[in-house]
Amino acid sequence: MRWTGVLSLAMIAFLIGVTLAYFYMQPDPVPWVDEPTFEADMCVRDMEAENAVLARTNIDFDQLHPHVANRGASFVRLAHSCLDLEIRLTSGFRSTKEQNDLYAQGRSEPGRIVTNAKAGQSYHNYGLAIDFVIIYNNKVDYDLSTDRNRNDLPDWQELGELGKALGFEWGGDWNSFPDYPHLQMDFGLSIRQLKAGKRPDKEATIPVADTLQPLLN
Ligand SMILES: [Zn+2]
Repeated sequence: MRWTGVLSLAMIAFLIGVTLAYFYMQPDPVPWVDEPTFEADMCVRDMEAENAVLARTNIDFDQLHPHVANRGASFVRLAHSCLDLEIRLTSGFRSTKEQNDLYAQGRSEPGRIVTNAKAGQSYHNYGLAIDFVIIYNNKVDYDLSTDRNRNDLPDWQELGELGKALGFEWGGDWNSFPDYPHLQMDFGLSIRQLKAGKRPDKEATIPVADTLQPLLN
């Protein structure tokens, strides 16, 4: 009887420990929102300036799905005219070799791990994803709390919302491996389907948020 009591106590203590460990291991809540809240009323289009910013991006738009390319360019343009942020697209389509080289980074090669996707496992490999960085004073700004346009909102969050308003899925919303510089359009296709050879129609589109409609016509 006495031993049963000790065992029960030990069991209870163990369960309390596991429960506490579980709660302490939960990551802090991420301050990013899940639904696009982007408003277009502060956008003042300056096509000449937009063109100049866009010209500094040198990814190959021709290797992207036409709609991804189109919305990717809009993303850079509207980030300038609506958010006063300079964006550079740093990656678009990635070949098998490029994806495997990137996967090796932080594993068999030096550097920090930037992807969990091997060749064929990333939407980049099908021309359906783009990566971007914020440029400030000609330098890349990766600080997640950065607020260069001084409106008390983290710039990365604003950019994520702009991307989503344009129809992209934003990597910053991913819970397991947030990828803040990443935007993709899957057109309803899983990686599994893409690997099996399925491709979105070249004419496929994804609707934009209503607020952005007047800006894209
Ligand atoms: Zn990416």
